Amino acid sequence: MKMTFNDFIKKVFFVEIAKGLALTMKELFTPAVTRQYPKEKRNPFPGARALHALVRSDVTGEAKCVGCGLCAAVCPSKCIHIYTTEGSDTMKVVNRYEIDVLRCVFCAFCVEACPFGAIALTDHFEYSGYSREEFHYTKERLLENWDKYMAGDKGKIYFERFWGPKEKDIAHSKPSVAAGGGA
Ligand code: SF4
Ligand code: SF4
Repeated sequence: MKMTFNDFIKKVFFVEIAKGLALTMKELFTPAVTRQYPKEKRNPFPGARALHALVRSDVTGEAKCVGCGLCAAVCPSKCIHIYTTEGSDTMKVVNRYEIDVLRCVFCAFCVEACPFGAIALTDHFEYSGYSREEFHYTKERLLENWDKYMAGDKGKIYFERFWGPKEKDIAHSKPSVAAGGGA
């Protein structure tokens, strides 16, 4: 390919190299955006999908979960395990509710599928451990997570803001006059 005069000048005066160096110099004096974690932290985003919690009912003080199993059925990682027995009033008793957090992909399908708003993903992401057992969350530990990270208004806001059906979301499903077929 024939070299143009412009290309020739660029090569002789190292124009591209000068441009690259100018960019480097500019970045040297730009304030760094890196945060020195864990010394510097930013607030987690509301609705972040981190550690799980089982919702504790304000009324009964127990888990709201009724053991229907929808969350376990929808979970793509199959990391939710629920063990129930039948109670005296034909309601299920949730004896064990366990999540293997190491297998979870934090998709929040379980939260979406739960018809009772009984499971949540908290914004607590700073957890670690030295054994698999530490990431095996039992019903009791999941309830503790609710108390620690979501109790009070925070939990209510979480469900209202992110998981409560909104008027605009269901408006399209209302039968219109035309679709209703008339009298
Ligand atoms: S958390 Fe919700 S979906 Fe899962 S078993 Fe309990 S009530 Fe059912
Ligand atoms: S967030 Fe997704 S992968 Fe994790 S337990 Fe819920 S459904 Fe399963």
